[in-house]
Amino acid sequence: MSAGEMTFVRRAGEWVVAEVSNQSTGYCPDVATWPAMADALDQLGLRHPDGLTQEAVFRRCPRCQERNIVREAQFVCVFCDADLPAEWNLHQAADPEPP
Ligand SMILES: [Zn+2]
Repeated sequence: MSAGEMTFVRRAGEWVVAEVSNQSTGYCPDVATWPAMADALDQLGLRHPDGLTQEAVFRRCPRCQERNIVREAQFVCVFCDADLPAEWNLHQAADPEPP
C-alpha cells in the first residue's frame, strides 16, 4: 500500500518513528499513500509523525517512460524535457506518445 524509508529513535524506553518518507524508487508510491503507512504503524503500536517528514513526488514521463522525482515543483522530465502530468501515474500501463 506504501513504501519508503524510516528512521527510528529510542525515546522514554520505546522505539518510535522519527523520520518517514515515501522515497522508494522501486515502488514509487504517491504521497497520498501516507494513511496506509500510518495505519500499518498504528497496528504495530509504533508512535510516528502526523505525516511524511520528507515527501517524494514521483511521475512517469509520458514520452520516454522514465521515472522522475519532481524537484522544486518543476513537472518536467529530466531525461527528455517532456512535461510531466500533475497526477501520480507510476502504476498506469506504459503507453508512450507517438514520435
Ligand atoms: Zn521523458
